Amino acid sequence: MGGGAGPTAGGSGERDYVLNKNTMKFHYPSCSSVKDIKEKNRWDYTGTREEIIDMGYVPCKKCNP
Ligand SMILES: [Zn+2]
Repeated sequence: MGGGAGPTAGGSGERDYVLNKNTMKFHYPSCSSVKDIKEKNRWDYTGTREEIIDMGYVPCKKCNP
């Protein structure tokens, strides 16, 4: 559909996550562990959970994304 700009394009399961390239875990941006991720290991990602899991990441046990 139209290429609308906006923070919440909402719909097909896409949302913001924070990936830790060091531990290979992913989090919700609101997770308390996110602030402990070093800048070089942090990857802000917008997409679906499946895409992230396909890349080999596992969901954080704390925020359970
Ligand atoms: Zn987390």
